[in-house]
Amino acid sequence: RGRARAVKEEKFRVRDEETALGRDARVGILGGGQLGRMLGIAASPMGVRLKALDPTENCPASVSSTQVVGSFRDKEAVKAFARECDVLTVEIEHIDVEALRELAAEGVDVQPTPETLATIQDKYAQKVHFSQAGVPLGPFADCPDEAALQKAASEFGFPLMLKSKRLAYDGRGNAVAKTAADLNDAVVKLGGFEQGLYCEKWVPFAKELAVMVVRARDGETRAYPVVETVHEDNICDITTTPAPVPNKVAEAVQEAAKKAIGSFTGAGIFGVELFLLHDGSILLNECAPRPHNSGHYTIEGCACSQYENHLRAILGWPLGDTSLKVGGAVMKNILGDAEGDEAMSRAHRLMGAALEVPGASIHWYEKPDMKAARKMGHITVVGPSAAVATERLDTILRAAKGDHT
Ligand code: ATP
Ligand code: MG
Ligand code: MG
Repeated sequence: RGRARAVKEEKFRVRDEETALGRDARVGILGGGQLGRMLGIAASPMGVRLKALDPTENCPASVSSTQVVGSFRDKEAVKAFARECDVLTVEIEHIDVEALRELAAEGVDVQPTPETLATIQDKYAQKVHFSQAGVPLGPFADCPDEAALQKAASEFGFPLMLKSKRLAYDGRGNAVAKTAADLNDAVVKLGGFEQGLYCEKWVPFAKELAVMVVRARDGETRAYPVVETVHEDNICDITTTPAPVPNKVAEAVQEAAKKAIGSFTGAGIFGVELFLLHDGSILLNECAPRPHNSGHYTIEGCACSQYENHLRAILGWPLGDTSLKVGGAVMKNILGDAEGDEAMSRAHRLMGAALEVPGASIHWYEKPDMKAARKMGHITVVGPSAAVATERLDTILRAAKGDHT
């Protein structure tokens, strides 16, 4: 922790004098997309400055951080970048963990730890880790070859969910086999067994839930309110907070999520995705070691946003208040639905409609161009209750379609 001590002169009063970093700490983030952008926006009022490593010039995070142009997958680029930072964090888990391990061995402060990132970036390793930690999970099995897949299929039945272990996001590493006849196509779709595949028993969920958890350097965890997520084509479309579930369920979700994140090492914010079953029980789906789409609402909805809390955690500062400061909040992702100008003007109409509605805030990520399924921005609407926030969002969605009734 030699580097940490070196930047202590200008620091705030914090509880852990040994590991906390000061305001002048140079925070580096691998990846400069919308998550890095919002992290930088949160850093500014705290007097913290962010540097982002991203290959695309004028990346979304470039408005709120100093961008270093380079790839977060290139070992040498990551190492050169990290040497200019006092603490290094990520906005994406698909990074070169080996580079981070080497940096950590050289004394660079990587948060969360490379071990945590390595476990989470491999979804199968993540499941094994959680099952050992006693977190509720559905049945899953490694599928290194045809024989293992057949064995799992006969045990779990159909539909069967086949998943890539690595580089998965927005459902792009998933393939569903409805019957035994679809198994081969599912394997081919995911690039073959050599890509690293595993499968999960189908979960006939009633709802999908998510919860953000922040983990301090000393292991303290705090959960945010429970969110209902609604996905369209495997991409988060709308989140609603508080989730419309009984208190007992919400408490069980927060406990399971804290147990899951408490089992890792290192500091930071984590997104935890879960399934609620029809009998009221819950199963963890997966987690992400970074700010998460299902936590965007915390900017307007909570006392301390997921972004501010991530910075507090990695800097070794006291964690912030995770409670709701409004009655309810809904978040709508603005996704590209096609390439080109027309799709762009549909997105702009949504933003414009939101500006007319009380409680609505717009977030536009300034991505260079529109593509199908690309996250272009989001709208958060708060109100005295989740129901009122939902009505307000409906007003926005209708107005954007030209329906002003
Ligand atoms: P993300 O963008 O959240 O990282 P991902 O690509 O890692 O997504 P998953 O979260 O594993 O993908 O799955 C995407 C969606 O597929 C889930 O949100 C859920 O709707 C559905 N799903 C995943 N696993 C199962 C399962 N075992 N049974 C039924 N549905 C599932
Ligand atoms: Mg995922
Ligand atoms: Mg997911």
